[in-house]
Amino acid sequence: MTESRSEIDRIDVATEVDLAMMERAIELADRAAALDEVPVGAVVYRDGTIIAEAFNNRHAARDPTGHAELLAISRAGRALGDWRLNDCSLAVTLEPCPMCAGALVNARMGRLIYGISDPKAGACRTLYQIPTDPRLNHEVTIIAGVLADRCVALLREFFEERREINRQRRGAERQPTESRRIS
Ligand code: ZN
Repeated sequence: MTESRSEIDRIDVATEVDLAMMERAIELADRAAALDEVPVGAVVYRDGTIIAEAFNNRHAARDPTGHAELLAISRAGRALGDWRLNDCSLAVTLEPCPMCAGALVNARMGRLIYGISDPKAGACRTLYQIPTDPRLNHEVTIIAGVLADRCVALLREFFEERREINRQRRGAERQPTESRRIS
């Protein structure tokens, strides 16, 4: 299994266009982070042209399905006037979850390019292999680990900042209780 996967990696190498699109996905993820959303960005493209893009907006939209990939896939279908995206690729900073991996298959997406694997929800290689499951009616070509260092840094920075904010909040909450007790 491991061997056949690394073979796939050797055959399907990220192109210049894929790298440029991942750069764009990282920019989008940064924008999500600035809005206090988990930083995930996604771009759907065809022949070097961006068809649709999105970043995670679960909190702002109060929508549990507000994942970057799902939003980008829906927008791409509308932009092209076709739900079939066979000749498109999707670049995303984080390995898609079961919901988004299912959407990739339903969209008949041609290729998936992602940055880092997700040990908690990754459904493309890590926990499940939905886009390449031969029992389903479509298989997606996968290229993983593209600009992975940058994608890891993005998430790490976000969660470290968040932990720091939570620590400060907890500290601020404790303060008034103590002063009340003294008086
Ligand atoms: Zn998802």
